[in-house]
Amino acid sequence: MILDRGQGALVWDVEGREYIDGTCGLWQCPVGHGRPELAAAASAQIGRLEFYSSFGDYSNEPSIRLADRLLNLAPAGLERVFFTNGGSEGNETAIKLARLAHRNNGEPERNIVLARVGGYHGMGSGSLAATGIDRLREGFGPLMPGIEFLGKPHGVVHGPGATDVLIAELEERIARIGPERIAAFIGEPVLGVGGMVPPPADYWPRVQEILRRHGILLILDEIVTAFGRTGHWFAAEHFGVEPDMIVVAKGLSSGYIPMGAVLIGHRVLDLADGASFLHGFTYNGHPVGAAVSLANLDIIEREGLLDRAKLLGDRLLTALKPLEELDHVLEVRGVGLMLGVEFASGDAAAVQSGARAEGVIVRASGTNIVLSPPLVISEEQLDTLARVLIRQVRAAG
Ligand code: PLP
Repeated sequence: MILDRGQGALVWDVEGREYIDGTCGLWQCPVGHGRPELAAAASAQIGRLEFYSSFGDYSNEPSIRLADRLLNLAPAGLERVFFTNGGSEGNETAIKLARLAHRNNGEPERNIVLARVGGYHGMGSGSLAATGIDRLREGFGPLMPGIEFLGKPHGVVHGPGATDVLIAELEERIARIGPERIAAFIGEPVLGVGGMVPPPADYWPRVQEILRRHGILLILDEIVTAFGRTGHWFAAEHFGVEPDMIVVAKGLSSGYIPMGAVLIGHRVLDLADGASFLHGFTYNGHPVGAAVSLANLDIIEREGLLDRAKLLGDRLLTALKPLEELDHVLEVRGVGLMLGVEFASGDAAAVQSGARAEGVIVRASGTNIVLSPPLVISEEQLDTLARVLIRQVRAAG
């Protein structure tokens, strides 16, 4: 499928066929396609200063303004920003920084990172090592050592008492490894690639409390969830936690330019205590990425897209929920405009291609169909998406 252009929640291929975009490509486009303000922001910045390295003591104004803006929007306790070109780089950065901080605090043996089965953190050496999806890891070993996996925060563990089971596992694992050997816990607030899986509501606050007690840093991978997807600037707000680092990308620039960031909290800075962080990639702190991101955040704010995500997310979840009555559907779930349909049996890939033939783009991820349309999608487009998906899921049984 060769794409040619986009507008709002619609894209067209080179044959001129129109599609409702139910996925934002890979989740990256809260403000929708074809926004002239973002083209103008990029053009103006390229005309002024296209790029200059952020190494040493160099910086640029758009990056400084964006860092300030992000820290103003973020949960309490975050104080610095390290810019990247995308998500994997951000998670590599966060993992390295967690290890460096503990080492500088006189605890070099604190280097293990806890991650979860079903989690996705990227394709780099550390970020793939922390990814708990076997099919993505196969063939690339040995991956970076020092990752310990906890179970998937959902699935077999349902209903009342679910969090107790997950918390007991976490406590048991920390005791077995020894808290003095654990640097950080990395997790997505809601599993994305793993099937749009929200944990029980009290999961994150309880995890945070245990990690704090043991001096373990919490890295929240908000590469999918930040900038409106869950109805908040950050999903950390939705779940009521204040992580030590938040990693973002995708929605930061709505994907118009590759851009990401790691928001770094005071605990990390205290541990690191001014240690020099010999780390960075050529295009970090890109002024064009920063200028576009600032304009993108303006649109999200001006158009009230956080509230819109909640409203439309509820509408889509309500429309799709009856699919659970089908024998071949295990669950329909979601938070904001981030939804998943999980199959007990049946072919998610066939649903993806059937929907595409009807002019709707959805994505098969393992045994799930995952949905994350632009937050600007109209009610009418959303209802069409739901209608087509329901028909295709029924047919896949
Ligand atoms: N973390 C999460 C939760 C993601 O969904 C992704 C990409 O989909 C990544 C990390 C990796 O980001 P990137 O592909 O920009 O390196």
